[in-house]
Amino acid sequence: VEEPAETFFANTQGTLSILEVARQVGAKKVVLSSSAAIYGEHTIPPCKETALPDCKSPYALGKLQGEEMLKMYNMLYNVPTAILRYFNPIGAHESGLIGENPNGIPNNLMPYITQVAIGQRPELGIFGNDYPTPDGTGVRDYIHVVDLAKGHVSALSAIERGCGLAIYNLGTGKGYSVLDVVSAFEKASGVKIPYRIKPRRAGDIATCYSDPSKAEKELGWKALNGIEEMCRDSWNWQKKNPAGYICTEQK
Ligand code: UDP
Repeated sequence: VEEPAETFFANTQGTLSILEVARQVGAKKVVLSSSAAIYGEHTIPPCKETALPDCKSPYALGKLQGEEMLKMYNMLYNVPTAILRYFNPIGAHESGLIGENPNGIPNNLMPYITQVAIGQRPELGIFGNDYPTPDGTGVRDYIHVVDLAKGHVSALSAIERGCGLAIYNLGTGKGYSVLDVVSAFEKASGVKIPYRIKPRRAGDIATCYSDPSKAEKELGWKALNGIEEMCRDSWNWQKKNPAGYICTEQK
């Protein structure tokens, strides 16, 4: 929202450039990282893949354009294609070796929480507590990044079986509020997270969670980790990499 043109062009021109190179080298299958952001607030959750898109941000619009480009590519060149709509990936590999290391101030909830927990930032800002949700904070469908990765493996095998083009939600089907995530993290880490309620963030909606049943039925994939494992593994990575990757390497 703060950098609409950059965001939109990265997702549209970037996708087109990659598709063009894929065409030139004769790629045999394509998987797109799309987003639940395309559902917007007019979709009554749980969001099904058949819901009409309702984009509320340049990011969501760029992702939707990316999906359209893949549809064109699939139609013109007959390349098996999977469009995966990610819900809210958090967590890390359980080894603590691979985790989320955002540049600058984190935009997303979980890396912000872990940076507060490790002492890099004084407090979490919660963007709005007057949404029509049980506690007033935004509700999302958080998914462990390892489950998300496994969803790609399942989608690739489905493509190998020749599925044409298909769209799948990758989520758990469960919604947690920002305050739910804060307390789950405090429980998993034993660290208190100070927070302050701030105004709503532009482009945010109240509630978004998936109906993941299509992926289970057609790909045989289901998210196995819960919010406890997501918090545990995010914290494990942050503890092992207190200043992120770059500073760890410089030590
Ligand atoms: N959020 C928040 N503080 C932050 C970052 C996010 O309160 O510093 C909220 C945000 O308003 C939303 C939820 O946490 O309700 C998830 O936001 P995130 O940016 O992680 O993912 P999004 O759903 O926007 O893709």
